[in-house]
Amino acid sequence: MNVRLNAVALCVLLAATSAGSAAEIVWPQTGRVTQNWYTYVNSTFGYHHAVDIAGIDGSPVGAALGGTVTWRGKDIYGALVVKVAHASGYDTVYAHFSSFGHSGTVAQGETIGYEGATGFATGPHVHFCLERWGAKKYMPASVGGTVHKGSAIPYNYPGITTTSSSPASSTSTYTVKSGDTLSGIAASHGVSLTALEAANPQITNPNVIFTGQVIRIP
Ligand SMILES: [Zn+2]
Repeated sequence: MNVRLNAVALCVLLAATSAGSAAEIVWPQTGRVTQNWYTYVNSTFGYHHAVDIAGIDGSPVGAALGGTVTWRGKDIYGALVVKVAHASGYDTVYAHFSSFGHSGTVAQGETIGYEGATGFATGPHVHFCLERWGAKKYMPASVGGTVHKGSAIPYNYPGITTTSSSPASSTSTYTVKSGDTLSGIAASHGVSLTALEAANPQITNPNVIFTGQVIRIP
């Protein structure tokens, strides 16, 4: 009887996990936005290119999307940092935790750490950053506004919810226009030329693309 009950519980858990991985990227914490993409920090750090969410000290912070924790440790200022890898070259990075949560494979919303003010911080907040192929990506958030944990980030990130690494599963495509180059298309979509070529094995010579050709955006 116990075995049967456990099996039912496991099915519920799996269903919740797969629903999470299919959803959009969401905010990892509820709180007031104190710095955004455009904030100029100082001459050392330059522009912020991330979103700071000032939530409640010690409260759980969830993964913005299902993925794999690929790194957690301290930065040079002593901040506890977690990095989670997702599909299509995306990573999310979270900093200033007071302590760590789950590691390994994490579902969307699963606790990866607890809010704190470790490292270069004036108060408890989550420094939340989205990267693709190592380059920081824009996230829309107004300083002084409030974001809510679990709410979708209202922005289109091509390929971010792709659950398979197969190029054929990509849902985003681009139709080549006159004057386009493959490197130009890569740059305008925020992907590397290497990734674009890998997603389009039909292109044998990257210098030869033609108007009307449909290219997959990874
Ligand atoms: Zn920050």
